[in-house]
Amino acid sequence: MSPIELNKRQEEILQIVKGNGPITGEQIADRLNLTRATLRPDLAILTMAGFLDARPRVGYFYSGKKPGQDITDTMNNMKVKDFQSIPVVVREDVSVYDAISQMFLDDVGTLFVVDKNSCLAGVLSRKDLLRTSLGNQDLNAIPVHIIMTRMPNITYCLRNDSLIQAANRLINQQIDALPVVEEQPEGYKVVGRLTKTNITRAFLSLSENHEL
Ligand code: ADP
Repeated sequence: MSPIELNKRQEEILQIVKGNGPITGEQIADRLNLTRATLRPDLAILTMAGFLDARPRVGYFYSGKKPGQDITDTMNNMKVKDFQSIPVVVREDVSVYDAISQMFLDDVGTLFVVDKNSCLAGVLSRKDLLRTSLGNQDLNAIPVHIIMTRMPNITYCLRNDSLIQAANRLINQQIDALPVVEEQPEGYKVVGRLTKTNITRAFLSLSENHEL
C-alpha cells in the first residue's frame, strides 16, 4: 500500500485525537474552530486509511496502527498448515525411472524421499532427475538415494510455522518446495508439502479479504 500523504488539517486532527481520544467529531471541530460538516471528509479519510478508529457514541480514537497494518497482521497470522498440500513420497531404493513416473503421475515438481521408517531422508527436484537422465545411464538401475539431496541438508518447516517464515526459507535457499514435518523419536515424518504455488495461493487469498 502506498503511504498516504495527509494535509495540514488532517495532521492536526490526528494530533488532537492522539492527545485527547476518545473524542467526538463535535469536540474536534470546536478545537479547530470549524464546523463538524467541514471536518467530515477529513475524518472519513483518516478512518478509512486506518489512522483512526471510530466507535458510535464514544468517538474517535487513535488506532496506533500504520496504514496497511491490518494486512501485515493478517499475513503474520497465516500458518503453513492452512495452505500446505499433500506430500508425494518415494522410498530411497526406488529407481530414478520410477521417481520420474511418480512425478508425472502425481503432477508435482518435488518428491520427498523416505527411509524404511517412513522418515525424511531426501528431496528430489525436477532438475535432479533431469540431470541424471542426461547421462547415458540405465535409469532403472539407479536408486534415488544416489542422486537426492539428503538429510541433514534438507530445509523443512513445521505445520505451525508462519507462512512468512516458510516463504523466507524458499527464497533464501532458492528452492521450490519444503517438506512439512513432524518431529518424532525416529526422525521427521513428512506430513505435508509447501510450495511456491501455496504461497501464491495465500497471496491471492489476501485480495479476497482486503481491498488492495
Ligand atoms: P529445480 O532443481 O527443479 O530447479 P529446486 O530449485 O527446488 O528445483 O531444487 C534445487 C536443488 O535444491 C535440487 O538439487 C534439490 O534437490 C534441492 N532441494 C529442493 N528442495 C529442497 C529442500 N527443501 N531442502 C534442501 N534442498 C532442496
